Amino acid sequence: MNSAESAALALVLRERGWSPAENGESADMVLLNTCAVRQTAEQRVMGRLAQYQALKRSRRSLGQTFALVVAGCMAERLGDSLKEKFDAVDYVMGTAARSVFPVILETLEKGQSLTAILTDEKPQFSFSASHLEEGRLGLKSFHSFVPIMHGCNNYCSYCIVPYVRGREISRSPASITAEIRLLAGRGVRAITLLGQNVNSYRFEDEAGRVTDFPALLELTARETEKSPIRWVRFLSSHPKDLSSDAIRVMAEHRVFCRHLHLCVQHGSNAVLTAMNRRYTRERYLDLVDEIRQAIPGITLSTDILVGFPGETEADLELTLDLMERVKFHYAYMYHYNPREGTAAYDLPGRIGEAVKRERLARVIALQKKHTQELLKQRIGSRETILIEGISRKNADELIGRTERDEMAVVSGKADAIGRFARVSISSLCGNTLRAKELTLCPGD
Ligand code: SF4
Repeated sequence: MNSAESAALALVLRERGWSPAENGESADMVLLNTCAVRQTAEQRVMGRLAQYQALKRSRRSLGQTFALVVAGCMAERLGDSLKEKFDAVDYVMGTAARSVFPVILETLEKGQSLTAILTDEKPQFSFSASHLEEGRLGLKSFHSFVPIMHGCNNYCSYCIVPYVRGREISRSPASITAEIRLLAGRGVRAITLLGQNVNSYRFEDEAGRVTDFPALLELTARETEKSPIRWVRFLSSHPKDLSSDAIRVMAEHRVFCRHLHLCVQHGSNAVLTAMNRRYTRERYLDLVDEIRQAIPGITLSTDILVGFPGETEADLELTLDLMERVKFHYAYMYHYNPREGTAAYDLPGRIGEAVKRERLARVIALQKKHTQELLKQRIGSRETILIEGISRKNADELIGRTERDEMAVVSGKADAIGRFARVSISSLCGNTLRAKELTLCPGD
């Protein structure tokens, strides 16, 4: 979400003739787009603000200065207290206030102070028209996020997001399809529909006509049918809201990648209840069966959070058991850290650091085993990949992704970036497939 929003802000800058500076020493403005989900992310931003504060002082002594703007969830959460802590901060732009950004730029272009645009009014959130990132290596962008929602109504007890992004707002289907058309016109090959909980997407127009998530998927499939966009993904799916209709539409249209990120968080009903996730492990396992029956060969990934207050050894065993039953392709795994301002912050039964780390290590070890087993099954197969870039380890190799969200490395030249190719999977190195015999897809 932050990447998409940063791309939208960068587009506003480019449209007004601004260009990226080499560094803070030569910038007219420094914009920090922040995340508040984890304490560590906020600590990093605090460190960066301290650096920019020192830089601003030294540039001021040379008769130069720059504007320092803080945007995003942390800006929303901490508001003007950031200005009190760091007097170098000129403007704090919360998540709902992005519409103020052009005004900030206009004010700077006129050489005026940003304090002049302070307003008491609460700005309304609005979606940007495009979130296309600038292509790397001088190439066109081949992938774009397409936000379809903002905010979240779920209030999982460990999560700060609903407090900093507010309640769900669904973007109009007309605005979403307009962005998809724009991306198709730019030659984009893959898109990801984005929201905190895409399955609860629901837009009602003035005539009372409702578009829900399955209907939006149908619309997306139609819109991309005769376009260069060949792959569509969506993120994130909440198990309590993923409907049979959405699974059916996904199964019916090949444009939807055969991969689904379905956050489970935990395998114990007691912990799921304490987390306020509003589904059971039984419901989750049934959903996995339904998805796999409807879409054979689909891969699943997930998020797992261990060490939640009150978690017992038996609860952890249930999580390991659920992982054994599902066999996720990969997982983002964390241990719980209390987040001030969330419902779980005051829960009794906090787990000690050493126990949390030990439990997380067991979850990670099991996931590693599953990932390896599943990826090894690909060896010997012929796969289609979208080439995403040059391998960081070897400049003569390209890195690509299958529709099942597996990474593959293959020898090739940079002009294949952004194109679909067929490759033969020959081996596995870590969690990356090694491939050979790259053939660019015809007409690509
Ligand atoms: S669904 Fe839960 S974890 Fe996800 S953003 Fe909403 S509150 Fe946070």
